[in-house]
Amino acid sequence: MLPDKCSIREGSRDCVNPPEFLITVVTGNDEFMLGITCQKHKTTVLSKIENLQNQGNIPNGSIKFENLKSVQTDCVRGDPDDFIQL
Ligand SMILES: [Zn+2]
Repeated sequence: MLPDKCSIREGSRDCVNPPEFLITVVTGNDEFMLGITCQKHKTTVLSKIENLQNQGNIPNGSIKFENLKSVQTDCVRGDPDDFIQL
């Protein structure tokens, strides 16, 4: 089960938009789920992830946005509890 809200927080408020993209980072043969985002926060998420990569908090690799509607959620590995706090 994936969360039904965007992972972004604006200040102290959670974004309440429905998520549209699954964010993953691809390194070699591995793909890590980072979170989900709405259309509005796609660029915000991208710059946050690049910051986290620069700080070494998440693996370096190419960041991928997959349309949630086309993702078979049954096949998505990982646990929403593992999502990073964006
Ligand atoms: Zn959002």
